[in-house]
Amino acid sequence: MKPKLSAVKLVLPYFLLASAWILFSDHLLPLLSPDGSRLELLQSAKGLLFVAVTSGLLYLLVCLHMRRLRAYLQARREQESSLRQAAAVFDATQEGVLVTDAEQRIVHVNRAFARITGFEESEVLGQTPVLFKSGRHDEAFYQSMWNALKNRHAWSGEVWNRRHNGEVYPLWQNIRAIHDEDGLLTHYVAVFSDVSAIKRSQNELDYLAHHDPLTNLPNRLLFTERVEHALERARREGSEGTVILLDLDHFKHINESLGHNHGDLLLKAVGERLATLMTGGMTLARLGGDEFGLLCEGSGPEQAADLAGRIQQCLAAPFHLAEQNLFISASLGISLFPGDAENVEQVLRNADSALFKAKSVGRETFAFYSQELTEQARQRVELVTALRQGLEQDELRLVFQPIHDLADGRLIGVETLVRWQHPQRGLVPPAEFLPVAEESGLIGAIDAWVLERACRQMRDWTERGLQLSFIAVNVSCRLFSRGELDTRVARVLADTGLEPGRLELEITESAVMEDPDTALELLDRLCKLGVRLAIDDFGTGYSSLQRLKRLPVHKLKIDQSFVQNLPDDHDDIAIAKAVTALGHSLGLEVLAEGIEHQRQADFLRGLGCDHGQGYLFSRPQPAQQLEEAWQLSPSGGATPQQISLL
Ligand code: C2E
Ligand code: MG
Ligand code: MG
Repeated sequence: MKPKLSAVKLVLPYFLLASAWILFSDHLLPLLSPDGSRLELLQSAKGLLFVAVTSGLLYLLVCLHMRRLRAYLQARREQESSLRQAAAVFDATQEGVLVTDAEQRIVHVNRAFARITGFEESEVLGQTPVLFKSGRHDEAFYQSMWNALKNRHAWSGEVWNRRHNGEVYPLWQNIRAIHDEDGLLTHYVAVFSDVSAIKRSQNELDYLAHHDPLTNLPNRLLFTERVEHALERARREGSEGTVILLDLDHFKHINESLGHNHGDLLLKAVGERLATLMTGGMTLARLGGDEFGLLCEGSGPEQAADLAGRIQQCLAAPFHLAEQNLFISASLGISLFPGDAENVEQVLRNADSALFKAKSVGRETFAFYSQELTEQARQRVELVTALRQGLEQDELRLVFQPIHDLADGRLIGVETLVRWQHPQRGLVPPAEFLPVAEESGLIGAIDAWVLERACRQMRDWTERGLQLSFIAVNVSCRLFSRGELDTRVARVLADTGLEPGRLELEITESAVMEDPDTALELLDRLCKLGVRLAIDDFGTGYSSLQRLKRLPVHKLKIDQSFVQNLPDDHDDIAIAKAVTALGHSLGLEVLAEGIEHQRQADFLRGLGCDHGQGYLFSRPQPAQQLEEAWQLSPSGGATPQQISLL
């Protein structure tokens, strides 16, 4: 093109000269042939020049057009080539591409689209991308996407879509809004890649960073994070938690004697055993070497000491390794939060110094960060162990406290109360061991034992002619809240052959009010068995009258704290009066506990209180002593009327 242009430039001066000659020849001819002899020749030359100039002009015009045409054709060729390239890229790219029109109807998809989504082109053309929605994102998500497309004409981010086979997967998506020269929206183009594999490996990496590869338990990093969150939560919610650090005693010897492989196997087995003790709100971690960490959210010192005891018990069974039984033990350090510590470092430091304390007192034990707690907990653990043994060795005893009709003094029933005949400490009252039994779960076994023995005793008395109306048995909160009390009672009644109406179950007001709806259902089921029900310690558990009205109980037992100062204390008088009136208005019998003086009995009788129980009548006594007091012959025969004590 360039050389031709320069040719035009070369020709142009001659061409201009020739044109000037043609234009001005009329004036020039007479000058060139003043005599007119060459005029004809010059005229012919002028004609020839005119033809040449006109052809030259035409040639120039054609040249200019040809240039334009060539440029146009070149541009077309380039455009077609880049379209071909774009089409090849569109089809060969690993990213899925989806093009919609302005109304979001799909107009193009590429091959990768079909591979990633599982949808064929023919299935999606004309549809909208709503087809791929997974339901994982809320309205606000799509709203912000459309806002970005409207304002910035582009959006990119992670989206969870659904494949043709229903699988929900993550993808990274770039969407552009395409506009024409007039600024009108014509298309949306979405380019996306499936990031599920990346996510998976990210998760795997994350898992590896936070877990111990040997035991698969959380590692120190994750444990510390969890303690930190637990500490924050405890502060926010006013709750508490504990961290227990556990270190195997003399683990070094195992590594040295059996080799590291066996040491590793033992650590794995310890992790597995500890994991069986974990319940909700707990994290078990291997912090390194033979050190494990336990985080227990919502647990106080008692639960922590209890767990520490169970950990020691569970590790006490031998581990079978290298064809031999290995016996190991562990030392444990316990720290409490938020009480004991300001931050996570301090929680772990405290647990560490408690662990050191446990190790320095001879290992195979646990210690709290605070000395006082350590002592209390140790005593508690000793008590639980002794009580468990006591149960096995039949050290529990029953005593019975008579209950009288206040109007005529008749003996009408007895309340069964449990005692623990400790070999060294003598007779232990229930207040000392029942709370521990409740916490450690031993109460279930104790209550079952008491219920069975009491029913047997009552049947025995009945058979021997002592016409007591009922025998009362206390039911612990824990047993009551477990909900299967009715089946247990039915079984004991069947086993002992006691008439259901002769058994009275005493349930404390607080046990009922802990979960009134479940309590109501259970009481209904118990009532259907035909047993009598009494609310014990009434007045201490904030019953709502609304609820009380619906409970199928037969008796209210006024707590002894309200009887103690009768008939002098105005408040107690008011309470005793109100409870008696309330009970009667609901059709219930009313009993007053803890009557020690005649004045109290007289006052309560005056109020119309039906029954009474207390040291005035009799202290709780073993069956045999009571029988002697009732002057019962072993063959029986006495009636309640005959053994009236008033
Ligand atoms: P409770 O059911 O209210 O039993 C009455 C308690 O008051 C008994 O104490 C009894 O000895 C005592 N008491 C009776 N009369 C008088 C009196 O005139 N003055 C004074 N100061 N006290 C009197 P105990 O036997 O120590 O029992 C305490 C609590 O332990 C019982 O309160 C009951 O809630 C629980 N308990 C006792 N035995 C059992 C049992 O076998 N199972 C369950 N779950 N709890 C039991
Ligand atoms: Mg009672
Ligand atoms: Mg009571």
